Amino acid sequence: MSWHDDAGRDLVRSFGERMALFVRGEGSYLWDADGKRYLDFLAGIAVDSLGHAHPVFVDAIATQAATLAHVSNYFATPPQLALASTLKRLAGTGDDGRVYFGNSGAEANEAAFKLARLHGGSERPRILALQDAFHGRTMGTLALTGKPYMQEPFLPMTPGVEFIDSTVEALEAAIDDRVAALFVEPVKGEAGVLPLPEGYLAAAREITERHGALLIIDEIQTGAGRTGEWFAFQHEGITPDAITVAKGIGGGFPIGALITFGSASELFYPGTHGSTFGGNALGTAVAGAVLGEIERADLVRNAAERGAQLREAIAGIDSELITGCRGAGLLIGVGLRHPVAKALVAAAQEHGLVINAPNDETIRLVPALTIGDVEIDEFIELFTAAIRTVEDALVLDTPTEVPA
Ligand SMILES: *Cc1c(COP(=O)(O)O)cnc(C)c1O
Repeated sequence: MSWHDDAGRDLVRSFGERMALFVRGEGSYLWDADGKRYLDFLAGIAVDSLGHAHPVFVDAIATQAATLAHVSNYFATPPQLALASTLKRLAGTGDDGRVYFGNSGAEANEAAFKLARLHGGSERPRILALQDAFHGRTMGTLALTGKPYMQEPFLPMTPGVEFIDSTVEALEAAIDDRVAALFVEPVKGEAGVLPLPEGYLAAAREITERHGALLIIDEIQTGAGRTGEWFAFQHEGITPDAITVAKGIGGGFPIGALITFGSASELFYPGTHGSTFGGNALGTAVAGAVLGEIERADLVRNAAERGAQLREAIAGIDSELITGCRGAGLLIGVGLRHPVAKALVAAAQEHGLVINAPNDETIRLVPALTIGDVEIDEFIELFTAAIRTVEDALVLDTPTEVPA
């Protein structure tokens, strides 16, 4: 029996077939059970901010586990208070911000959904969200996720959510004083790394404020420095009412959070939300250490600079297949001229490169924020080799024209 058979028999079928069996990681590299080495430009889907087995991450887990892991939310712990304060500072909430801790992105967005309902009450039953944006897989967050094919097997959804185009005009047309909140994914990662139109967030801030609706920004993929700012909304210099974070803040440890600004911080009152694991000492110590290292090593700037370097290097690849790059910092979507993204991912894996295809015509690159020249050079070499493999297959598939 192979691991493949075990996975096929024992693991839930909601995920596709597992592509490899990884046994070890270090920095931007992974090793499979056969000892083959891979360059990892997926980083667990923008999660492993410091790469694999970073000493700061390892030490934070070991030290905190040996000190105090979990006591429940009847009590506070020093790492929890420290992380709340750090997140408030990095998000720029000022004194009147507050932090709710959960264990995943979906849990952070569930909390945000409840925040929106508390704000809306019976006067504001409507919630707006963007078509094609992704907010999670739980029943609440699925109701916020503007992808009909994901919702369809699980209807009926939690009511009240309406989906609009990602344009200022669509928002103006849809909003009124019965809207509790607008949910926004600033760069639609799962939809193919699609940034919002320039100026959208600033306009959305003004429009939601005018109608008394909350602006809630899902920074689960874009947060923790990924786009070259701590949070994507900071590129537009606005102040939202709430943001949600997860993925990159834990560097591989499951943790998520809802961060509220201003009067939105006063909406939750005792008894309205909770979590057993959320914000425990172990998780918050690890996330605190990860954010501390991102700050110490100036990895937000590294994300901006290496992102620009990577796009430039990709633009230099001589291939008809590539249409161009989208995204910001180290959240990059590479557009393809043909629907061969899945084949390109498979070819890359053969060549020892881990990348991801959020759809048939896009490759998503979300490497560790720690990458430098060595990783970028090796990426270009392996990615180019994978592209050649796919191009060769495309040529073979194209019927040659037979002259009449
Ligand atoms: C990944 C993601 C989520 C869901 O996070 P989970 O930890 O998988 O629950 C929500 N929103 C965005 C934008 C994401 O990228």
